[in-house]
Order: sequence, then C-alpha cells, then structure tokens
Amino acid sequence: MSDIRMHRSEKGASPDSDAGDFMEDIFRFWGYDRDTYHNMVGDAGPIGIIARPATVPVFGHVELVGDMVERCGPFARFCASGWWSWLLLDMSIEVEGEPLAWLRTPDGTARPIVTRTDHNAYRFWFEVDRTVQFIQNERYLFHSTPFYVKFGINPDQLPGWVRKLGFRVMHQLRRVRRCGGPLFPTHPADPAVDGWRYLIRGIVEEHSSARPVPFWPQGKQYAATLSHDIDTDYCFRFPELLEKVRALDEAAGIRSAWMVVEKLVDAGRKALDELYAGGHEIGFHGTEHDHKLAFLPPVAMAKRIARAGRLIDAYGTTGFRSPSYLRTPGLYQALDGVLEYDMSMHDVLEGFCRATLRHEGCSTCLPFFIAGTDVLEIPTTVPEDWYFDSLGCSNPREVLRKQLDSLALIKARGGIAGILTHPEPELATLPQWLGNYRELLGHIANDADAWVARPGEVNRHWRRRKVYIDASWAEISATTARGRPAHQCRDRKGAA
Ligand SMILES: [Zn+2]
Repeated sequence: MSDIRMHRSEKGASPDSDAGDFMEDIFRFWGYDRDTYHNMVGDAGPIGIIARPATVPVFGHVELVGDMVERCGPFARFCASGWWSWLLLDMSIEVEGEPLAWLRTPDGTARPIVTRTDHNAYRFWFEVDRTVQFIQNERYLFHSTPFYVKFGINPDQLPGWVRKLGFRVMHQLRRVRRCGGPLFPTHPADPAVDGWRYLIRGIVEEHSSARPVPFWPQGKQYAATLSHDIDTDYCFRFPELLEKVRALDEAAGIRSAWMVVEKLVDAGRKALDELYAGGHEIGFHGTEHDHKLAFLPPVAMAKRIARAGRLIDAYGTTGFRSPSYLRTPGLYQALDGVLEYDMSMHDVLEGFCRATLRHEGCSTCLPFFIAGTDVLEIPTTVPEDWYFDSLGCSNPREVLRKQLDSLALIKARGGIAGILTHPEPELATLPQWLGNYRELLGHIANDADAWVARPGEVNRHWRRRKVYIDASWAEISATTARGRPAHQCRDRKGAA
C-alpha cells in the first residue's frame, strides 16, 4: 500500500507537479483559490483522494447513492440514473468507508468509488483529474485513418445525393450496432466530465463560503458563439447565399466566425474582406477539404497548418476547425503555437462521425485547453444543419425544437452554445433552414442571460480567466488576487 497517494499528506502542495494531483485541476477549473483547495483536500479537509496512478482506464456504469445526486446541481438530472464512463483507478486497492458511489463493470463487478469515512469526510478512490482529462481529450478514441481516406476517396467530391445516402446507410448500421452495448458519451448531456466537477463543487459549497470565478463576463449565465464553415467556393460564386446568412447574423446584432478553406481564399477575397471589415472573424478550415489533414505525417501536416499564415496576416486569424471535424492528438500538437483555439470537437454527437459508427465528444459544454498544448477547445454544442440533414430529418419545427432543447440544457449548465452552419446549397441556405436559423438567433439575441461573442473573444476571455486563476495559485498569499473580477486581468499578450 506504500505507493497509494493520500493527496497532499504525502506530496506537499506544489501546484505545478502532476505526479499526484488528483483533484487540483477541478479546483482550478472552478477558480477556487489555493487556500480553499488546501482547506478542502487532504487529511484535515472533507475531501480526500486515495489512489495509485493508474494507466489502464476501467469502463463501467457509475451510480451515485442517495443525496449525492443533489450535490451535482444542474447536472443532477443527468446523474440520477447513473452514467457509463471510463475511470482511472486501480482495482486492487482495498476500499474502506460507507459507499456513496459505485462503479459497475460490464462483467458484473461492483466497486465503491466514493465513500464516507467515520469523520464524515468524502474519499474518492480514483484519479478524478486524470479521469476528466482522459475523457475531455477524447483519449478513449482510437484515431485510425478512415477507410475512404486510405482508398483516396474524398467524399466532398461525390454528388450530394450519394453523400446523403451514404450517411443514412451508416446511421442505420450504427443503430444496429447500438444493440450490442452502451454508447459513450451519452446524448444529449454526458456527466462523465461535468458530473464530477459539479459534484465536487457541491461538496465545497457545503463546507466553505468560497465562490467560483464566473465562467462568463458581465454576470451572464452562459455564452453563445456562431460559426460558418465555407467548404466549397459555392457561396463565393453565388454571393447572395453568403449574404443571406450574414444578414441574419447582423439583424440579430451578432458577428460570427467564417471558417474558410485556405485554397478558396483567392476566390473569396472580396467577400472575406467585407466580412472582416464588418466585424466578423475569419478562421482557418484547413488548406483543402479532403479529410487527410489529421492523418498526415507530422512534416506534411505542419506544412498544411503553416498555410494558415496567409489568413493570420490578412485577418488576424486565431481559430481553426478541422475539415469534417477529423482530429488526432498529432493535429493538436501541430496547431500549438500557430493558432490559439479549435472548434473541431462536439460535446456529444448523437449521430456518428468519421464513418466509424461511433459516438465522439469531449463530454463538456465548456471550453478547455487541450492537454499538453496551449490550444483552447471551444466545442460545438448545438446540433447543426448537416447533422439533421444527414439523418434524414427534414421537419424544420422538429429540428428547431431539438436545437432549443439543446440551448436550454447548455444554459442550465452555464456552458457555451457553439452554433455552426454550412452556407452550402443543400444545407443552411435552403429556405426552411434559414427560417430555423433566424428563430434560433432570435432566442439567443433576446436572452439577457446570454453572452454572445465571436469565438476569438471567447478565446481571449477564457485565457484572461485562466491567467487570473493561475495568479491566485502562484502567490504565497492568495489574498491580493482575490476580489478582482476576471475581466480586469490581462491576458498573455497584454491585451486588456
Ligand atoms: Zn467543413
């Protein structure tokens, strides 16, 4: 038992070491200061972690007992019936105390993962931070090259009806496969990341008057950001289509991000210049939409990413979305230091991605820094046009209802509504989808609780928030850092 870590009691309190930091990330996520962390976590505090660094994640069904569900705040409704998840834990550790949460593995083994001790303290028997990181960074996915890329097929060059047919066939296959076992992450809101965060916040609030640092400025409850992917030159050849979408954004008083494939920049120069001059943001959507980028060897990948330089020079571009959301850890390494934020991940996707018939997603509707990089992920969280279209759902009222449901869930959790449209002939520019989009924008624009911002502004805000929180941890006495609102801090580039 000698290598089991009882947090803090053994390793001290270095905030920069990750050797045994099993819960520090979550305290930083909320913005609790270092003093609160030390008062709450450890021998004397109400929270303890007893774990041995585990390298093998264990998949199972998490079940909370009794009033533990209420402690999950806005996540309680999703946590009530339990959730499938991976946990980083060592199954050989002998657990003690009254069980407050269980992990039930598919082979029928049940094991307490949170317990209460004699002193009425909570003990977590797994690596909470690394579990959150593991799921948030989609480490549960295998990143194999899609079969069609291996065969040199670019689906975007196929006729629209062939692509739609292919999507629908694969969706049916996925439904058949679903009978075989649980899918992860769970639609429409997965507790595997934020469930733990809210639970720990609930425990902190029981024992302390410390308050988290708000996620969003101006006292807003949640954030919303709009982006449009320009995959083909269609809307440059028929600028009235682009204008229709732009006009809806601007009528709602919103400026958005237009993620453009770099090889289309010359064809779209005039339109992009006008968008930029009108306060919109121009983002990088790869050099071409051929689905290869994420799977290229490092040198070839870096060469393509470097082409973002044209957009950076012309439009001050800081953001990226990978063509067809295809992403690998190597892609994030290549982006690091070139662009500041990414929008290639969904929180959860009910459909499928990458022709692999699987769910994907970071399980959180809040931004986060991709592990090992300075790239901020701003997930796409509201189900978008192509998604409904590819599933054959063409009833605009039903689509709008699903999008508004999604918006309400994001608001309740204080997250960010990442809304994406494709101004393409068979997608967002169809009259029924434009009507839907107008109504969706109306809901956001008229909601006084929403902070509506371009993704670049979200990126700058989240970095300032992090600088503020990091400062409160770095100082020997955190008192001087307290009480300053996050938006008064300066980011790493010194911008106010
Ligand atoms: Zn695209």
